[in-house]
Amino acid sequence: MARAAAGTLGAALGGCRAWLRLRCRSVTGAIAALNHVALARHGCLGGLLFSQTCLRGLMIRHHVEERVAMISRQALLQAFDDLLQPARFKDYGPNGLQVEGSATVHKIVSGVTASRALIEAAIAAQADAIFVHHGLFWRGQDGCVTGWMKQRLALLLAHDINLFAYHLPLDAHPELGNNAQLGRQLGLVSQARFGEQDLGFLGQRADGGQFATAEALAAHLEFILKRPVTLVGKSQGAINKIAWCSGGGQGYFESAIAAGAAAFITGEISEPQAHYARECGVVYFACGHHATERYGAPAVAAQVAAELGLQHAFVDIDNPA
Ligand SMILES: [Zn+2]
Repeated sequence: MARAAAGTLGAALGGCRAWLRLRCRSVTGAIAALNHVALARHGCLGGLLFSQTCLRGLMIRHHVEERVAMISRQALLQAFDDLLQPARFKDYGPNGLQVEGSATVHKIVSGVTASRALIEAAIAAQADAIFVHHGLFWRGQDGCVTGWMKQRLALLLAHDINLFAYHLPLDAHPELGNNAQLGRQLGLVSQARFGEQDLGFLGQRADGGQFATAEALAAHLEFILKRPVTLVGKSQGAINKIAWCSGGGQGYFESAIAAGAAAFITGEISEPQAHYARECGVVYFACGHHATERYGAPAVAAQVAAELGLQHAFVDIDNPA
């Protein structure tokens, strides 16, 4: 298009953009509105044609604007905090906004861990926020920004990406948390909570059935989680009462035994739990830290994104641990 024509188009577009944004709610309404503007401004058919061309551009732009809502970083943080209530927990690291990025957010990428691979995936997806279960900062770190920490932080800062991390509050949320969502995946319904900070879930099969043997439960876990599980101990009859605690929940095994569970499902196992399982007659299933914690972050991020009109994508960076 010639420069003069483009100038006319630009002037028409600039002059009526705000007005059109307010008025253009339908194609018919928009055309009528445009005719009015074009005739009033240019008083000629040429102006009308140019302006109709520009309307198509505007409408495409309008659709894009409607689909890509934006919200302030602070409002997003507030939405996560309202849902997960981090102040209620004593945790191993800071919950909430761990790394400050852009002031506004339009797309969230969720994942289990703020690994370099996840950050790179978020950059590729043009996200301006990452929501994870395992953030960057933990009690006991030496505080140096070197090696992997430097690389991850450098990527986040260079691309102005906000990092939100919620650890125990994400495990604990009664509907969207890691334990609630793991239970849902496994077809279990929670009837009680147990252990420190009420992180353990205790319940049974949602369909009211039982697992005839520990091996039957192991097969079910492997089918749902798509990975081998470690089974220790023997069940005493059919398994009805099941306890679970996602991730590194081995420390919850004794509380699960005390709560009367016949089986305990978690991510990891340490040396002592194998003996407890054999000696107490409660079957222990170690199903992988990552495998048991990949359901909470996408559930929370999807809900918050839907409420605020943001885009969301879950990126699963597979992990054998
Ligand atoms: Zn974890």
